[in-house]
Parts: sequence; structure tokens; C-alpha cells
Amino acid sequence: MLIDTHCHLNDAKAFPDVAASLAQALSARVDRVIVVGTDAEDSKRALELADRYEGVYAIIGWHPNYTAKYTPEGLKEIEEMISHPKAVAIGEIGLDFRWHYATREQQDRALFDQLDLAASTGKPVVFHCREAYPALLEILEDRPILPYLFHCFAGDQSEAARCVDMDCYFGVDGPITYKKSVQLREIFRALPRERIVVETDSPYMSPEPFRGKPNSPANVALVNAALAATLGITAEECAALTTGNAERFFRISG
Ligand SMILES: [Zn+2]
Repeated sequence: MLIDTHCHLNDAKAFPDVAASLAQALSARVDRVIVVGTDAEDSKRALELADRYEGVYAIIGWHPNYTAKYTPEGLKEIEEMISHPKAVAIGEIGLDFRWHYATREQQDRALFDQLDLAASTGKPVVFHCREAYPALLEILEDRPILPYLFHCFAGDQSEAARCVDMDCYFGVDGPITYKKSVQLREIFRALPRERIVVETDSPYMSPEPFRGKPNSPANVALVNAALAATLGITAEECAALTTGNAERFFRISG
């Protein structure tokens, strides 16, 4: 069985029928999905899905691209939601220098507040990092180490090594199935295996052969198969490995 450790099933436009998406996932042997919030409203909807469906968990937080709207009240809402038993991590938080929806100051404020919240609650943290690895790693290396996961890891070899030094986990998505992702596969081949989890980031990041089409949690099976080929193990071995890793990081039992 597989866990999609990062998807946006709370995006009602992309997923008008959540029950159908979960049924489709289950038929691809994906029995658990972790739904990620990008602001307080979106996190609330992730938690509502976790309340409604057994195999659904939620990640609660402010995505860097939404931090122009972030306020102390916005932090308070996250703080209240994070005590829910199915709120498994704070995220997706971090820095994004690719898009300019929020200033560096706005991104920093939300990031530091939420890192402090993670430190005080002991919750694992899921990062979104886009063209910002040097800045984010510098911040994290200056702070006490927490359980960290880099969702959709896209750093280079030396940034991966710095993450390994902090005992981070690494999320792998659709791009591992792309022909051109030679360097990405090399990076994942060199990582400690017990630190890799699979995710879809659906509705984005569709793996082959669905590239360019909307993604869904069922497709995490294709990501797992491509990772298995990369690591030179069977898909079954890879499923056992990545599911065990996800259960350990998110503290959910099998
Ligand atoms: Zn995401």
C-alpha cells in the first residue's frame, strides 16, 4: 500500500468529487493521502476532509506565495488547527523566489512564526522551496533541528547533502518519471533510502504518461514505480520503504 504524502484534494475546483478521487486512489493501492493547506482557509478545508475520510490526514500552514495576506490572526488559526489529532505537520511553509506574490519580508515573517510554532508544538515541518535553497538552508542550519521534509525536492547535489546533514526527508514527485530528469534521479539514488517519501502534489506535477494533464493521488503509484527503477528495487519493495518512511515522519501508524 502507498501513501500520497502531498496533494491538494482540498482544491474544490480540481477535485469536485473527493470520494471518487479517493476510490480511484484505493484501486491503485493508495490507501492514505495527506492533504496540504496553503493558507488558513485552505488548511481548514484540508482538516474537514481529514475529519470526513478515514485515510486522509492534513498538513496545516501558510505557503510562502500566500503570505501577503498573512497576519497574527492567521497564525492563531494555524495554532488552533494544529492540535487536531489528524493534523500531522505544519506546512507547506518556506520560501519561493520564483514567483513574486509576496515580498521576502512577508515570506520571512510567516516562515519564522511557523518555525517557532513547530518548535513549541514538536510538529514535523513540510517545506515548499522554489529557487530559494541557499536562503532557506541558511535559516534552518541556524536553528534547532526539527523533523523536516522538503516536498518536491529540487535542490542540487550539495544542497541535498546539507539537508541530509539535518536528517531531512525528501519528497519525490512526477518529474522523476520525465526522461530529462537525469540529475534528479542521480540525486535520489545517492540519498539515504530511509529518508525518501513519494507524493503527487496533485493536481500539479503529473507523472508520465499523464504529463500536462491534471494529476490525482492514484498517480503516486507511477512515482513509486519510477523511484523503484531509479533505486534498482521492485515496486513492492519501494512501496514498503516509502510507506514506512512516511509513517515514521508523519507519526501515523500502519
Ligand atoms: Zn503543494
